[in-house]
Amino acid sequence: SIVVTGATGHLGRHVIDGLLEKVPASEIVAVVRSEEKAADLAARGVGLRVADYSAPETLKGAFAAGDRVLLISGNAVGQRIPQHTAVIDAAKEAGVAQLAYTGVLGGPAADFKLADDHKGTEQAILDSGLPYTFLRNGWYHENYTENLAPVLEHDAVVASAGEGRIASASRADYAAAAVAVLTGEGHENQAYELSGDTAWGLAEYAAELSTQTGREIAYNNVPGEVLQGILTGAGLPEPFAAILVDVDAAVERGLLAGTSGDLSRLIGRPTTPLAESIKAALKG
Ligand code: NDP
Repeated sequence: SIVVTGATGHLGRHVIDGLLEKVPASEIVAVVRSEEKAADLAARGVGLRVADYSAPETLKGAFAAGDRVLLISGNAVGQRIPQHTAVIDAAKEAGVAQLAYTGVLGGPAADFKLADDHKGTEQAILDSGLPYTFLRNGWYHENYTENLAPVLEHDAVVASAGEGRIASASRADYAAAAVAVLTGEGHENQAYELSGDTAWGLAEYAAELSTQTGREIAYNNVPGEVLQGILTGAGLPEPFAAILVDVDAAVERGLLAGTSGDLSRLIGRPTTPLAESIKAALKG
């Protein structure tokens, strides 16, 4: 089977949609925490296995020999190395044929806090000896376009990324790459640096928002400490705000700007333009 963890998440749902276009539903298995949340997937004929990354015993039956598995990284930042290691151990014990993992652009070279869990997971996969495919995802357009409310409220994009550029792509683009490596051949023991075809800066982002809304939206670049205060003031826990400030510093240093072309090559088409995701977000 082709097995997808995190299948009820945003990326996972796109992956399942893409798989259903290529292979019979009976060959697809979704590993989910909540059977209820996955009812629509079951209704489409996708197999379900219920497991939690944090409860290793639940992962025992999640995989079978010969499965091609996509481990979609969880969202509990800081807890993910033990969580993902439990998934890797279960995949190893079952004898899966391929373990694909959604890591971060740059892999071992990504020297910012948010990348730590991904680097630790890649190492655990290498240590397992399983045939792997590293899908090192760059930023999603949606990291920006799904957070437009404060931007539209203040007519300002507030960040501390300076003139740094971001080669983002849509979630659907990254999902299509995952589908390609799960259904295609020759992806064993490969690491792909996945990102959008075009890198953009936040000033351009503000300009595109201005064009599409007919308003004047500025890019307000602030020092990291100021951003930290704004984020905690808006209710974000202090450590998470610090991680986001650290991400902006990484953007400024150009770590999310790489345009290797791996993503468009894997999906056989150009990546989705940022302007298209903005348009979709503004439509609501
Ligand atoms: P989501 O938060 O929508 O999905 C995360 C998925 O992981 C969900 O299906 C969730 O299950 C599952 N999950 C979390 N914890 C556990 C657990 N303990 N056991 C089993 N499943 C678990 O994120 P996206 O789909 O948008 O993105 C996928 C991943 O990519 C994120 O989890 C994160 O690691 C990373 N990411 C990357 C970004 C980028 O720009 N490259 C931006 C944001 C995230 P459930 O459906 O039950 O909640």
